Amino acid sequence: MKFLLLLLVVLVVVGVMAARGRRREPPPDTRRPPQGTGGAPMIACAHCGVHLPQQDALQDDRGRSYCGEEHRRLGGR
Ligand SMILES: [Zn+2]
Repeated sequence: MKFLLLLLVVLVVVGVMAARGRRREPPPDTRRPPQGTGGAPMIACAHCGVHLPQQDALQDDRGRSYCGEEHRRLGGR
């Protein structure tokens, strides 16, 4: 009888540890990739075509958007 009691205790301990192991996994909603831009509109650089948030883009006097000062200087293709 003592052996059965010990077996029961071992099974409970193993069960609790298994439950804790499962709980240690991050919930699915924290594993999604960071959004970064927060849904800001994206535009393409007129020179190299890379997409970037509109708020980070540089514009030339013709209203075209560029990813950086270098590409604004080089102009659109
Ligand atoms: Zn560019």
